[in-house]
Amino acid sequence: MNQAPSHTQPSGNTSLTRREALRFFGLSAATTLVAPGLLGAADEQPKNAPAVIGAQPGFYRFNIGSFEAIALFDGGMAGPATQLQLWNGHTADEMAGEFKNAFLPTDRLRLPFCVLLVRIGSELVLIDSGAGSLFGPIGGQLPGHLAAAGIKPSDITAVILTHAHGDHMGGLLDPVTQKPVFKNARHFVHRREFDFWNGSSPDLSKLNLPEADRQGFIAGARTHLAAIPFDKIKGGDKLLDGIEIIDAPGHTPGHIALLFSSGDEQLLHVVDCVHHHAISFAQPDWSICFDADPATAIATRKRILDRAAADRLRIFGGHLPFPSVGHVRILAKGRYEHVIEPWGTI
Ligand SMILES: [Zn+2]
Repeated sequence: MNQAPSHTQPSGNTSLTRREALRFFGLSAATTLVAPGLLGAADEQPKNAPAVIGAQPGFYRFNIGSFEAIALFDGGMAGPATQLQLWNGHTADEMAGEFKNAFLPTDRLRLPFCVLLVRIGSELVLIDSGAGSLFGPIGGQLPGHLAAAGIKPSDITAVILTHAHGDHMGGLLDPVTQKPVFKNARHFVHRREFDFWNGSSPDLSKLNLPEADRQGFIAGARTHLAAIPFDKIKGGDKLLDGIEIIDAPGHTPGHIALLFSSGDEQLLHVVDCVHHHAISFAQPDWSICFDADPATAIATRKRILDRAAADRLRIFGGHLPFPSVGHVRILAKGRYEHVIEPWGTI
């Protein structure tokens, strides 16, 4: 027999009186939440109210155990949903149906770019670099938001590149000098990723993109992987006393996820195992056109989401809604749900 928890169905013995409840929140029963006259009548509003539009905050601080972390907003990509047919074999109407289920506009697709910074001891570790100038006009906002958070590029001691796509590596090189932006950092990339893009013929035959775009992906990856001396890593490697590299192939052959562990707390950076907080969770069998190997990417997505849900892991993603921290819930019939973590701590 199900026993309802007392906090959802208080019994007469355990329920708080109104006065006790107010005292619990530091209020007396006599306190009014809005002082009389504060809001005033409509005709008393000041004529010169300050504008409330403007830039949104682009960084968000949180902790993973004793690690200090910052989610950094790099902008993103956006456009009419009918023109951005990103999911292989799925129509704009199917996309719109998923957006409607998630209370999103049905005519516009937005994919944010999120970058993670973690301080582990004396190390400042950046996971990916944002898009720089490589992925559309809205991306590449990382430098400004890094500065707003009080971090200089020269402060970064390690950069882990999760895969060599423009929206993740475009910020590695100065667009003018083509020199490394994070000049004091060691850079890491999966051996398989490095070899794939530098191979004689990267097998991007399954990439559902026009040929010019396909060639652009290859050229961009080769330029960035050649301009920086990368240390090569592989699944299972432990880096910087708190980061485990997890093989997550499919999106690209050397695509990785990362597990951060500090004390009892963990965070799983799922990177591009998911691309959209509604579609990738509700329709895990949908493959995005940027997947080099769609079938493998789908299998990897389910494995990573299953693990995150089973272990109740906090997750972070490359394209989840900023600040990108949340959890995974398994729904019926092979569907998942992204549960956004509330902003801030009190
Ligand atoms: Zn991406």
